[in-house]
Amino acid sequence: MSRRPLVTVDGPAGSGKSSTAKELARRLGFRHLDSGALYRALTYALLEEGLPVDGWPELSSRELDALEIQVEPEPEGVRIRYGDRVMGPELRTAAVTENVSHLSAVPAVRRWLLQRQREAARGGGLVADGRDMGSVVFPDADLKVFLVANLEERARRRLRERAEKESPEAVEAEALRLEERDRRDRERETAPLRPAEDAVEVDTTSLDFDEQVDRILALVEDLTPS
Ligand code: C5P
Repeated sequence: MSRRPLVTVDGPAGSGKSSTAKELARRLGFRHLDSGALYRALTYALLEEGLPVDGWPELSSRELDALEIQVEPEPEGVRIRYGDRVMGPELRTAAVTENVSHLSAVPAVRRWLLQRQREAARGGGLVADGRDMGSVVFPDADLKVFLVANLEERARRRLRERAEKESPEAVEAEALRLEERDRRDRERETAPLRPAEDAVEVDTTSLDFDEQVDRILALVEDLTPS
């Protein structure tokens, strides 16, 4: 293969996509694109600007331009700017997480981000994670992985990430939040969450983090026999 591969990692919330994709990119010396962060950045900006959620379906590309979200290439992947601020942990607040799947169902938003995501992938050597990386954004990717894990395990991982207690009540409440977001992501008309036809499904329920990364790394190595 003359060009460095493009690998996509899709899956439901809490399946471990972003952390796995980031480590995979680091081990391969590839760049990483966390597409969820782009939807989160637009959501953050709209909440900051005080635009009510029920008006989001009518957003135009001009209004999205006016939010001043920039996606800039950097050696490890992309940097997301909102005005002159580089976006970071504020993309993971509860308010952004609760609202992002309303915004990501809006076709104009998905169109607005499509070209920006493809530009980020120019030249290959990229691991892109999200919901529609293999099915819509990068249909010609060299390897498409779809991660799955059972709901309770995904809820536990999310609690652990936030260093919260794993009481049965907390696990149940987090599972309900994940299930609701997955439902909205699966049922939307534009680019719903689903595996690409040629995706390889990897069930991570009983894998630890290193095993997940190793499993995908082995699939990448199969692509490029030395
Ligand atoms: O991956 P993450 O949980 O950060 O994604 C946040 C939300 O962004 C998802 O629940 C989904 O609504 C949206 N998203 C999407 N398509 C992608 C990536 C994320 O619709 N490729």
